[in-house]
Amino acid sequence: MPAHGAGRLRQIFGGGSPTIEPVRCPYCSTEEDKVVDSRLAEEGRAIRRRRECLACSRRFTTFERIEEVPLVVEKRGGTEQPFDRQKVVEGIRRACKNRPVTEEQIGALAEEVEEAIRADGRRRVPSADVGREVLDRLRVLDDVAYLRFASVYKGFQELTDFERELLVLLKSSPPSPENGAP
Ligand SMILES: [Zn+2]
Repeated sequence: MPAHGAGRLRQIFGGGSPTIEPVRCPYCSTEEDKVVDSRLAEEGRAIRRRRECLACSRRFTTFERIEEVPLVVEKRGGTEQPFDRQKVVEGIRRACKNRPVTEEQIGALAEEVEEAIRADGRRRVPSADVGREVLDRLRVLDDVAYLRFASVYKGFQELTDFERELLVLLKSSPPSPENGAP
């Protein structure tokens, strides 16, 4: 499995200039080596590989890092801001308040949304698209959370009549006293 699919892997010599595969020995420029050790570095965001050149037998180190590609969200009215998965998490969490949805499910949903909107390589995405990706998944997870989230998206034109009726019901009924709610 690729790591979150959020970026391309690029190989970088330790302290040197960026390079693309194949790796070239910094001593004799041969492109053949064997990896003698691999370990995670930078809290799991990079892989450090110790390599041994097959021609001169000298050893060197390479790092593979996730290359973070910035993603811009276009809000209604034309303002822009960097995509922030935490904001997606908070929006979902609000919709799921007092619903049988776990933090793990909320985190996984936000991660899926980010993967979906990054999947086609777009660098900017309308905020409505982000909302739609959330809704597609919330619909499966929890009806009430789905409708709460949908109601936040003013101008969302794809609700069915049935869903509109439910929304009206939800708004008019007083919140039920739930036991053990935090
Ligand atoms: Zn060499």
